[in-house]
Amino acid sequence: MTHHGNASVPDLRLIAWEVTRSCNLACKHCRAEAHLDPYPGELTTGEAKNLIDTFPQTGSPIIIFTGGEPLLRPDLFDLVRHAKSKDLRCVMAPNGTLITPDNAREMAESGIERVSISIDGPDSASHDAFRGTPGAFDQAMQGIDYLKAAGIPFQINTTVTRNNMGQFKDIFQLAQRLGAVAWHIFLLVPTGRAADLKEEIITAAEYESVLNWFYDFRKTTDMQLKATCAPHYHRILRQRAKEEGVEVTFENFGLDAVSRGCLGGIGFCFISHTGQVQPCGYLDLDCGQVKQTPFPEIWANSPQFQNLRTPQAYTGKCGVCEYHKVCGGCRARAQTMRGDYLAEEPLCSYTPQRLREEPVSQG
Ligand code: SF4
Ligand code: SF4
Repeated sequence: MTHHGNASVPDLRLIAWEVTRSCNLACKHCRAEAHLDPYPGELTTGEAKNLIDTFPQTGSPIIIFTGGEPLLRPDLFDLVRHAKSKDLRCVMAPNGTLITPDNAREMAESGIERVSISIDGPDSASHDAFRGTPGAFDQAMQGIDYLKAAGIPFQINTTVTRNNMGQFKDIFQLAQRLGAVAWHIFLLVPTGRAADLKEEIITAAEYESVLNWFYDFRKTTDMQLKATCAPHYHRILRQRAKEEGVEVTFENFGLDAVSRGCLGGIGFCFISHTGQVQPCGYLDLDCGQVKQTPFPEIWANSPQFQNLRTPQAYTGKCGVCEYHKVCGGCRARAQTMRGDYLAEEPLCSYTPQRLREEPVSQG
């Protein structure tokens, strides 16, 4: 593939940075299959700061400090302050169980703009079962109280599985009661521990109905709702809007109108605890190693990223789909379920127009 020069390199908008892989929980759906012991090869403070110094060359990305459990990294706030000194916007994704009044204050002081907390069930029974840790729900609630006391806005993230599909409304209402600024639903990607959860992964048809429900539910609230890693939501949104005669503009749909389903390699990337750059945390593709290659070079030149930016490189229906530009399909699901990150999204029930056209009769 030819390299078209820097003019064609898209701006990086969001980096999920796994500052540590260690974690105090053992969630069923964890992509990292994380454990509490330290992992070898984590970036040192010096390496991490040098990496931060290169971020502004790729655009002005928002940095998600994630893990593992980011709060287990001793120099975490040092890194946040360093990123802030480079004018980078910082958010954090802790699991909620290790938040204390002290570190909540430190989050606020270091400039963390928002914290996301995962809640996968509306009560302790359902959430704790999913998290694999008794008491996780209560601890997350406690953590949220501390965030509120420190004045830090928080969002609730929910992983969608067959088990909690029926509890969405309750989870949303919980988020509302707690005072969340946003509720994001994540469609489970079968990697890591989640690969053993086959029975919890919803089908293409269920997927379609969840996303249609989400489209309608969105109209009932002012809270920011987002379907993340559900690329074909962007297709459904356009299909539904067309049916309803509503224009897909920023005014009507907020960021969904201008964003894309899967941004992996296009406006988003993941950096692992050892410095491996990937399209996202669920897609373990080695696109480059920041200890060897400057990060902006990886972002610009990685062959995998260039493929993800080239519609013709995709195979199956995602390659010919008229919604490719706004959707793209989940590349991680293509990899884990089809063995090829450029294959078609396995959980999309849509047939692109070009595949529906009647073959021309030869007479
Ligand atoms: S490949 Fe794209 S849609 Fe799938 S999990 Fe990664 S970022 Fe999300
Ligand atoms: S076929 Fe692929 S690109 Fe088209 S809507 Fe489905 S997942 Fe998206």
